[in-house]
Amino acid sequence: MTRPQQNRFRTSLLAWYDRHRRDLPWRASRNPYRVWLSEIMLQQTRVAAVIAHYREFLRRFPAVEKLAAAREASVLAAWSGLGYYRRARMLHAAAKIIAREHGGKFPPGEKALRELPGIGRYTAAAIASIAFDEPVAVVDGNVERVLQRVSGKRLAGEELWAAANSLLDVKRPGDFNQAMMELGAVVCTPRAPGCLVCPVVELCATRGESAATNKAAPQKKREIHYSLLQRDGEVLLVRRARDASLMPGMWELPEVKANGATPLFTLRHSITVTNYTVRVWRNIAPSGITGKWIPRERLGRTALTGLARKILKKAEVL
Ligand code: SF4
Repeated sequence: MTRPQQNRFRTSLLAWYDRHRRDLPWRASRNPYRVWLSEIMLQQTRVAAVIAHYREFLRRFPAVEKLAAAREASVLAAWSGLGYYRRARMLHAAAKIIAREHGGKFPPGEKALRELPGIGRYTAAAIASIAFDEPVAVVDGNVERVLQRVSGKRLAGEELWAAANSLLDVKRPGDFNQAMMELGAVVCTPRAPGCLVCPVVELCATRGESAATNKAAPQKKREIHYSLLQRDGEVLLVRRARDASLMPGMWELPEVKANGATPLFTLRHSITVTNYTVRVWRNIAPSGITGKWIPRERLGRTALTGLARKILKKAEVL
């Protein structure tokens, strides 16, 4: 793209963003804590699922110092339902460093932000540009797709960051970055991009034709069985190992073997690349598992896995 074309791209994209941007709760503030929290929650989780969690998390931990002072179990409980719990642990660890070593203030600058746990290149650039107006571009999956289609090239790695930085509007870097991500999320979508309503269609090399998208990883299928055991207002739960690769230390229902009877109910659940058919049985005693009886009224404050929460809600226990 020539320099005048880059200017037109910025102007058209930002004018579109100013008129059409979605009214999302984290856009109401440029507070770095809120920007950071939303960016971490939005990694690997859909916007619709994040909104309620974001509000509730801020209600419980309204500032970075509150998060730093919280117990890990409370942080994980507030994260429950968002999945990828490593993100919550890193968030907590970073909050402690910000409180202890930076007096509760975010270190300014993309480079300093990247020193914090769980903050990679993308997140550091997002916080630096949105909260501190630093002129650095972001590249996430949406931006990558837009850049590839607009340029008509299969850009990869550093080429993507260079392309994003060459287009960046240095006067409004935070808005520009959000506009690129918004364009990818709502117009230049992986399948059937809305080129007819696209603000940069005149400058786009492909107009959707060579939609360079990453193919989704093939989904695996698995069946899994859990027992719902209750007594006197308590539910039997087991704790996942602290070194489990997924959701370490979180609470779930005891897993049992399939049997010939009819399950209490069946539901579907997806974790990373696996689609689970989940069958829930009533009162089948698990073998070789030491669980803990948790009172029903404490379940809301317990760090449950997303699936355990789903099952307990469906069974009307939670
Ligand atoms: Fe994407 Fe189509 Fe816009 Fe090009 S014209 S950026 S392919 S929506």
